[in-house]
Amino acid sequence: MNPADRDRYSRQILFPGIGERGQQAILRSHAVIVGCGALGSFHAAALARAGVGRLTLIDRDYVEPSNLHRQWLYEECDAAESLPKAAAAARRIARINSSVEVRAAVADLTPANAADLLSHADAILDGTDNFDTRYLINDFAVSRGIPWIYGGAVAAYGLTMPVIPGRTACLRCVYPEPPSAAQPTCETAGVLNVIVSAVASLQVADALKILSGQPEAVAARITTLDLWDGGIRQISAPARDPDCPCCARREFPHLEESARQAASLCGRNAVQVHERARPIDLAALRERLEPLGEVRANEYALRFSAPPYEMTIFPDGRAIVKGTSDPAVARSVYAKYLG
Ligand SMILES: [Zn+2]
Repeated sequence: MNPADRDRYSRQILFPGIGERGQQAILRSHAVIVGCGALGSFHAAALARAGVGRLTLIDRDYVEPSNLHRQWLYEECDAAESLPKAAAAARRIARINSSVEVRAAVADLTPANAADLLSHADAILDGTDNFDTRYLINDFAVSRGIPWIYGGAVAAYGLTMPVIPGRTACLRCVYPEPPSAAQPTCETAGVLNVIVSAVASLQVADALKILSGQPEAVAARITTLDLWDGGIRQISAPARDPDCPCCARREFPHLEESARQAASLCGRNAVQVHERARPIDLAALRERLEPLGEVRANEYALRFSAPPYEMTIFPDGRAIVKGTSDPAVARSVYAKYLG
């Protein structure tokens, strides 16, 4: 380690959990952050300050003013310029720690690009807002033996669980299938800014154990937090399911393009999100969306106006998003309101 690094990271080196050997490993490490919204932008800042060698940042969205209360890396100018989050994050990281090599991918993580974006990671941090992507990360990480750290936050509530392939339960050991109904999201239920940093901090702590060369220090547990009405609870994660289709039988359907929630152009400036296995209670969804914009619904469909987009949702979960011709944008709008 050169003298400048030894000085810069001296307080982290002094911490016995990391030490000089751990810092050296961190400086050589590569972390991939999937989703650079609230959780992911905190992961990126914390890991850059900790001195990770390489960061890959993946995000398909643009910075908006309504992101700024909880998305720690971004500033008003990023929203004014409507910068892609991955690009805005890379720009800010360069100012925080110019020695970090950053790859900014303005992209939707899909089965088609997963190998390119995730392959050489020492750890993958979940900063996504949807289960589709989490099951894709889980299948990829287990198939390649890469540790990943699940995290989620909405309202004042959050949850995190590390997955160390071969040792701890994977996402599909605990939740064999993605949730089938619409989930609360930050757009529909709101979010407290500090639940995001609390969950992201727990994820980064586990990531630093892995990146400093001590994956065995990561405890197999599920942490839930409620920073408004409740407290912090930690339980042991269930043991690995000896019959888990993913980590035991090594079946990885979420890596197949055909398993993916498809999205395709339908007409001019509209994209259809083909989701068939997700029955939606339109009356309940109407109640959730009404405070957010104009909603019209009958038993066959619900139309929700979220300028510049308009989304029509059908009871089987299928939706048509008007106002874009980009499938990634349509998926993003869908995930924002349905999880
Ligand atoms: Zn499993």
